[in-house]
Amino acid sequence: MSLTVLMNAGPWLSVPPPGYGGIENVIATLVPELRRLGVRVVLASVGTSTLPVDERVSVFPDGQFSALQRPYNQVCGVAQAHLAGVARELHSRDDIDLVHDHVEAVGLATLAAMGPDAPPALHTLHWDLAKHPALYGHLDGGDRVRVNGVSASQLARAPQALRDHSVGHVHLATPLAVDAHRRPRPPKGRHVVVLGRINPGKGQDVAARLAHRCRFPLVLAGPVGPYHRPEDLAAAGDEARQNPDVRFFLDEVAPHVDGDRVRWVGTVAGQDRDDLVASARVTLFPLRWEEPGGTAVVESLALGTPVVATARGCLPELIDHGRTGLLTDDEEQLGELVLAAGGIDPAQCRREAATRFTPAVMAQRYVELYERVRQLASARLQPV
Ligand code: UDP
Repeated sequence: MSLTVLMNAGPWLSVPPPGYGGIENVIATLVPELRRLGVRVVLASVGTSTLPVDERVSVFPDGQFSALQRPYNQVCGVAQAHLAGVARELHSRDDIDLVHDHVEAVGLATLAAMGPDAPPALHTLHWDLAKHPALYGHLDGGDRVRVNGVSASQLARAPQALRDHSVGHVHLATPLAVDAHRRPRPPKGRHVVVLGRINPGKGQDVAARLAHRCRFPLVLAGPVGPYHRPEDLAAAGDEARQNPDVRFFLDEVAPHVDGDRVRWVGTVAGQDRDDLVASARVTLFPLRWEEPGGTAVVESLALGTPVVATARGCLPELIDHGRTGLLTDDEEQLGELVLAAGGIDPAQCRREAATRFTPAVMAQRYVELYERVRQLASARLQPV
């Protein structure tokens, strides 16, 4: 295939990311498979990105993530400066067949505003689509700018104007799914794990309460706002409470964290994360929001750990109730389901991941969408 794609990862973190970085991780998972399929990739990112690609474009020498803690008027130009660099690049060359954009709001707005001079573009919606109603509710990307979701349920809730631009959804993937069913199975411990940013939508307070009520050991893994280690949060003092996720943790979760039945271990990464999840009897997602994509859900399956969750957002698409996990509409039932999940076969979870959630499956689907976006863009140019 001869297709050149400008992959716009944005200015916030390098690719792959140094630690927590959802979108940058998706790009790091997708790009090697696209290149295996013959796609040339021009990566628009920051200077410190190390992902092997065919060409690189950057405006900032390194990731600007820490700027997000600053007041709006000091940070609002960062993504715009990056997009201005991408627009300059697109205007200066004619070999880019398609832009695959991942930059929240400003990526979509800029590509739509560039008009017919720019190549066709696919903008992946990685987030909750209730955000940005003024942009999404009035989007006009013409025939050239299309969007895709990361689950069907996410798109079903989107404003009509955004859905009119949609070419479908692509589920998230994990490298852990490759040959997941062939890896040796680690012994299971007794613990249940919640893996994710600690915030009200992810529902760690529910998990902690249920752990005490139903008497199971619970490990909460993930950052609280910008704090990745319990000692960093403790050292930050009262100022940390300015962050809403810190307030949520201190007020709603920490009272249940006793260091014994319920532990918060901060962010876990790499092999430690994989071991923690693979040895858990269940990964619990007591969601209070419509989870758009659920990377941690597919990682749990790939590591052979059944999922127990509220049936919200993408969960019913990713989890086959009774086969790879247990879902409920009633959060009070989650505790009983944790105890019942012993009946789910970890090998079945791994097989499901190896079939549905590999990077190769994701890349194949994106290549199909690239073709679709290019066809839709050129259809209007054909003489009638
Ligand atoms: N994660 C991690 N360590 C932690 C908590 C989370 O590496 O302690 C990773 C998790 O494995 C997943 C990502 O962070 O890859 C979270 O992505 P997800 O789509 O589940 O949630 P989001 O944060 O994007 O809403």
